[in-house]
This record gives sequence, structure tokens and C-alpha cells, in this order.
Amino acid sequence: MPPSSTAPPASPPPRPGFPLPLELVRRLGSSRFNYWFGYVANLGLVAWLMSRALAAGPVPVSPTRWVLLVVAGLFSWTLAEYWLHRLLYHQVASFLSQGHGLHHREPKALFGVPWYLTTAALLLVHVVLARLFDPASVALVMAGNWTGYVLYCLAHHGSHHWRYRRGWLRAMQHHHLVHHAHPDFNWGFTTSLWDRVFGTHYPPREGVLGPARRRERSRRV
Ligand SMILES: [Zn+2]
Ligand SMILES: [Zn+2]
Repeated sequence: MPPSSTAPPASPPPRPGFPLPLELVRRLGSSRFNYWFGYVANLGLVAWLMSRALAAGPVPVSPTRWVLLVVAGLFSWTLAEYWLHRLLYHQVASFLSQGHGLHHREPKALFGVPWYLTTAALLLVHVVLARLFDPASVALVMAGNWTGYVLYCLAHHGSHHWRYRRGWLRAMQHHHLVHHAHPDFNWGFTTSLWDRVFGTHYPPREGVLGPARRRERSRRV
């Protein structure tokens, strides 16, 4: 799929900067089984979280509250994807930033975080949050959040392999392909909202230079 007509040409991928051999990172995340089984595992986790909400207490959560909590979880994913992408994939050196660097180099390769790592991370977060807050509410918010993650994975796959013709998907694809061309911008994926809030949207409004824009400008001179 060719990049969007208005997307600038590709620039270098994000800094990997961590001494884990790239070949090991590539092997861990590049099996087709890992890539596709991730969807099965993640949808299974959403179902499991829903079952946790049902099993959490003697007083059932009202249907309205169910919907509100799941929608809140979905919305929380948009903020999570921004910061996970910005920090873990680009700004903090680790095997995750190495792996994401490989994605920037080969955007069409079927490369993903090993499914067992995301599963372990989600279970750990659930254990902690369910001890701190109402377990049913935690399970519902997390189910919405993880549904957002699954939709993100699917839409991200499509942004590199399919042609979105119009609407939200087309805008999302363009936003992300600009990120591949300018890795210091457009860290959000499903929405440009958080890039606009944190000053990393490309192109920024005239006269308003966020930190990322200033860095890019200083590199040019
Ligand atoms: Zn991508
Ligand atoms: Zn990136």
C-alpha cells in the first residue's frame, strides 16, 4: 500500500539504544504465529476481564454503569497508546524501542510484541488495580481499554497493508504514516487528540512550536 499522497518521505527510525541483540528481538517478535495468535490471546483476555466483572461481587453492576465503564476504558486506551508509543517505543531505550525501530525500518513486516509479554503485563496490572479499587469496575475499564488495544492492532496493521479510502480510518492512516516519516511527531494512533494536547501533532499550528517541533527545527540549522 503506498503511503498517503500528502505524507512526507521516510526519515530514519527511532533510536534503539539498548544492547539487546537486534537479532534476538527480531526473533522474539517476528513469528507469524506470535503476530496472529496475539489477537486470539487478547480477545481471550477481554472475555476473561468481562467474566471477572461478573464474578466480582454479590451486587451486580448496573447496565448503564457497565457501558460507561467500558467506554471510559476505551477512551483511556487512546491516552495509553500515546504514552506507551512515545515513552516505551521511542524515548526509553529497551528491547521494546529496539523492536519498534525494526517496525519503522520494515513497516510491512508482521512484527509484534510477544503475546505472552502483553498477557503477563495485563494480568499484573489487573492484580494490582483490583486490590486498590472496586474489582468489577477495574475489570470493566480494563476490558474496554484492552478492546481499544485490539482495535488499535488491527487498524495499525491495516494502515500499512490496506487502503483506507475515507473517513476516520483514512485520517488515522495518514496521521500514522506521517509519524513514520517524522518519528518525533504523531505518537497517537487512533486519534490525533493527544498529539494536539501535548504539542506533538504534525504539522503544528503556525507560530506554536512544541518541544518536538523545536528539536526538529534545530536539527535543520
Ligand atoms: Zn506503523
Ligand atoms: Zn513509532
